Amino acid sequence: VLGAVYEEPGRVTVRQVPDPSCPRDGLLLRVHSSTICGTDVRVIQHGQADVATPRILGHEIVGRVAEIGIDLAGFAMDDAIAIRPSVPCHRCWACVRGRHNLCQHRVFRFGYTLDGGFAEYVRVPREAIDGGCVMRLSTGACLDGLSNYEPLACCLNAQQLASAGLGDTVLILGAGPIGCMHAVLARHLGAARVIVADVLERRVEMARRFQPDALVNSREEDLPARLRELTAGAGPSVVIVAVGSGPAQEQAIDLAGRGARVIFFAGLPHTSPTIALDANKLHYKQLSVFGMSGSSFSQQDLAMGLLTSGAIDGRSFVTHTLPIQHFSDGLEAIRTGEALKVAIAPGLQS
Ligand SMILES: [Zn+2]
Ligand SMILES: [Zn+2]
Repeated sequence: VLGAVYEEPGRVTVRQVPDPSCPRDGLLLRVHSSTICGTDVRVIQHGQADVATPRILGHEIVGRVAEIGIDLAGFAMDDAIAIRPSVPCHRCWACVRGRHNLCQHRVFRFGYTLDGGFAEYVRVPREAIDGGCVMRLSTGACLDGLSNYEPLACCLNAQQLASAGLGDTVLILGAGPIGCMHAVLARHLGAARVIVADVLERRVEMARRFQPDALVNSREEDLPARLRELTAGAGPSVVIVAVGSGPAQEQAIDLAGRGARVIFFAGLPHTSPTIALDANKLHYKQLSVFGMSGSSFSQQDLAMGLLTSGAIDGRSFVTHTLPIQHFSDGLEAIRTGEALKVAIAPGLQS
């Protein structure tokens, strides 16, 4: 069977991989689609200490049951399933409080410590099933776009932390897939105004389909002036930095209105993780700054509910659906900013 294998930093090859065996007490999942995450791109480009090679990446996975271990009960062939990205311990203080993304004892992570979704099949061991990583979907569900529940859950984590909601003026820096998801989610949570800014015209244009109240090309326009005009001088009440850029994080502190909540959504390159923070702006404007990473089980369930109910269309973020053979084209489309989300769909013929 085919898989896109991360061989070493900088190199992914699409090649035949050994037929994954179905565990006696686990499942084999036929992948419907796996979406490429910013994290996958970062791992491929720069490597990551906890990802051993060779490894099949991909943690945004939906598919159907293709084989059931003889010692496993409770599943039927073709059951529709989404995979949660990691299996927390369910015992530590964070897990007990439902904050699974803060668990320090994660047992498995698909696409990190286990092979992930950029392949025809994913092997799901018993420990992962017992750990709750299998999210059941209704059998008849159309699975297109549903793997976006995972990044959407991360956006939900961010906006819930910052209590983004009714009446907020939300500024999003970065109009990539995450920025666009934030825009749609902020609207859904009741934001009064959603403003999206990016420095790339191509990205600004792609965000237009999500109908923010204002779209700003901050390379060509004076963003602070536009914000003063759009908010009658008050500034945004929530600022989300949806791009892995230190200068953008510094700018967020500048642009935030009084009493605003600022979310640093994306990590910075590990070679340059420091920013200059004007502590007086934090002090006098009474800002709250939130870091965040990942999502809890309940946020994943809520995000999936938004997609399956049709409240948010998961397909709207997918600009490219490609067979595994074209995995590198997908990476390239992300690098150039031509793509929002790229879905790898093994069932597609190349
Ligand atoms: Zn992801
Ligand atoms: Zn835990």
